[in-house]
Amino acid sequence: MGRGRAGAVVAAAAVVGSLGIGTQATAETSAAPDCPETGVVTIEAVVDGLDALDCDLAGTRLDAGGFGVPVPEAGETVTVSLLTDDGTSPSLELSVADDGLVTAVLETTGTTPLGRTVERLQAGAAPDRVEVVDLSADASAHADDVSAQAVGRCRLTDNNRLSYRWTTPATWRLNVERVPNGVTRTQWTSATRNAVTTIENARNNCGMSVNPTLDLRMPGTTAVDADIDGASNACTARDGRSVIDGGHLTGSVLGLTCAWSSSGRVIEADVRIDRSERRWVTSVSGCRGSRFHVGSTLAHELGHAVGLGHVTERGGSDLTMSPSMPPCNASSASLGRGDVLGLRSHY
Ligand SMILES: [Zn+2]
Repeated sequence: MGRGRAGAVVAAAAVVGSLGIGTQATAETSAAPDCPETGVVTIEAVVDGLDALDCDLAGTRLDAGGFGVPVPEAGETVTVSLLTDDGTSPSLELSVADDGLVTAVLETTGTTPLGRTVERLQAGAAPDRVEVVDLSADASAHADDVSAQAVGRCRLTDNNRLSYRWTTPATWRLNVERVPNGVTRTQWTSATRNAVTTIENARNNCGMSVNPTLDLRMPGTTAVDADIDGASNACTARDGRSVIDGGHLTGSVLGLTCAWSSSGRVIEADVRIDRSERRWVTSVSGCRGSRFHVGSTLAHELGHAVGLGHVTERGGSDLTMSPSMPPCNASSASLGRGDVLGLRSHY
């Protein structure tokens, strides 16, 4: 019975990005699944019904296909958010309830990237509460209206809040040992401080005056790495220190944020900016090719670190929390209307 349900999930995953996901929930009760033996759990296994206490999943990683998270302790949630240079930018949240039940929320965008798909996956049930947003028509309307694009980010009210928020001052340590390519240590420090201030004060160019009750601090540097495994684009075990670093990420990933939380309160949030092959700029003046603005990417990742999720991509001059980051574009270094509204309602 469990195998059959896993098959249904694979079929659903194959049509992510279209409107093809229908209701396929069944009322049957799942049999106890096999415990994973390889140290890696799949999304299908979660839907099959996975009990973290029965199976002793400590040290096991959930791999969602190119990115992943460790199975957290009972009562905790771990969330990974990726920003890719092709705009696909998925995110995955994995929770273990006090009774061991494992649940996941997988969010993907299409490759275009238009629309957004959210799958909530729970043991013993087919993917449910699936939300599909298809903005193809909307986005082509935008593409025809250049002036609308220019002011887009101050008009768009889209915001998406994740399951966690800081209830204590958020304190980051900056790793200055390995910085993104093309950026000096001084520029890296300055860009990071700027991004922290942007999020803390909801700095924007839209004339919005906001004072979120958000206390972000970056008191010092560290030689410690973020708890991120760049080879698998996955969060690792948390060490209790929130770190921002430049480090290895695989494939199209520009930046990655891992957040660990319990009952909606952040325990730790780590941010990594890719320093594999990619080159970064701190100013878009004279910027050419596939170089990305480090301050824009940091602001986006720190948005995740304080609990903002991706909004639906609308093209043009989009919000900081949109899943697409155009090269040589610094607009996301300050916030748009929806980003500010998200912070305002979250804090
Ligand atoms: Zn993101």
